Amino acid sequence: MKRIKLDRPQIKLLPKTDLHVHLDGSVPPMTLQELAVEQKIDLVEVSKKLGIGGLKSGDMNELEAKIFKKQYNSLAEYLVPFEFINVVLRSEEGLKKAAYKLAFDNFREGVRYFECRFAPQKHWVNGFDWLEIVSAVNAGLKQAADEFNNNKEIKAGKEPEFKYAIILCAMRMINQNMGDYYRYLYELHVGLDLQNLAAMASLEVAKLVELCQENGLPVSGFDLAGREDGFPAEVHKTAFLFCYERGISTTCHAGEAYGPESIRSAIKHCHVRRIGHGTQLFNEKGLLNKKGENGKPLNHQERKAYVTDIAEWIADNRIALEVCLKSNSQTLPDLRDLSNHPFPSFLKHQIRIALGTDNRAISRVSVTDEYERVMNLYNIDHKQLRDLCVGGFKAAFYPGPYTEKRAYISRVITYYKKLAGEMGLF
Ligand SMILES: [Zn+2]
Repeated sequence: MKRIKLDRPQIKLLPKTDLHVHLDGSVPPMTLQELAVEQKIDLVEVSKKLGIGGLKSGDMNELEAKIFKKQYNSLAEYLVPFEFINVVLRSEEGLKKAAYKLAFDNFREGVRYFECRFAPQKHWVNGFDWLEIVSAVNAGLKQAADEFNNNKEIKAGKEPEFKYAIILCAMRMINQNMGDYYRYLYELHVGLDLQNLAAMASLEVAKLVELCQENGLPVSGFDLAGREDGFPAEVHKTAFLFCYERGISTTCHAGEAYGPESIRSAIKHCHVRRIGHGTQLFNEKGLLNKKGENGKPLNHQERKAYVTDIAEWIADNRIALEVCLKSNSQTLPDLRDLSNHPFPSFLKHQIRIALGTDNRAISRVSVTDEYERVMNLYNIDHKQLRDLCVGGFKAAFYPGPYTEKRAYISRVITYYKKLAGEMGLF
């Protein structure tokens, strides 16, 4: 089949998804400033208090240079701005506005379905109740969806509706800068190590997912995010099993900064249905220290077999990889040049891929950018483009009955085919 190359207006038209996007990492500098003014928060003071950015004026230029950088040297450095942004996201209005902006920007570029993820514990302050936090985010998302769905073609059933869901994140690594909840957790549990505290907090997030579902909020999944190296997913097994036993869908950031073992652990110990990133899936060098049953380090063939076994499991069980190329190029120095990305190997193994942005503002990226990047770098054909678009909808943690999800996907496919025909892609 021939190589596909579409221009940006064409990509925008295609029905797309974003299954991996963080609310806080998607607050643009302008919105951050507006929220700070509205809430009478001095960003220079925040910078001083948190030791982030060294801001002198807090103006747009400074925010763009010191917080929303063009390049980050590691995942750890990439994660720093989140603490700064979250200072303006601890009120109903702040969360609602940020969620509205995220949904608006997504829908405007033809993203028909997305899952907004955030860590509720980062937004907690005394008096701001858990359900109020999630409801504030939902209110912003719903407002944007209602506006975009107020459209003749959609009402007539000629185009698929704009939809969304919410995923609540637990954190692998926690610290006191991340908000009052984590600070109290430290203060109230003297003697417990970081890992145990984080595991306690993650079980609370899992319980909140269930509570939200009982209260009719469109929260459809649980995620584990944050610094990966040294903070294994299996520490959070209790939270994942809590979800698994209740039929709550889970995903996990894994294989972003750490090797194939991290991905295996998420799949085999935590029963996740999707993996955030999975970039190190084929990194056999990441297994150099791994020992076999005989106690000796794995040899080359054993390493290859280990990696192939995980890839086969992922492909065969339709576990989707949430791939965020721009973000990977910023957090992983080896991937500055994205032609080194394992994306073609994912395609070769017929692994389901759901393209995502990760953090629209911190990464300065859109879904359209990511599609353009894929077409420019990886020589995909029409079938692969179709699988990317439709695969996102199939991998969704859809917040409704399966029959409804199937009917929605069917509308998406019909619409996609119509557009593809008009663009001459067949
Ligand atoms: Zn992420």
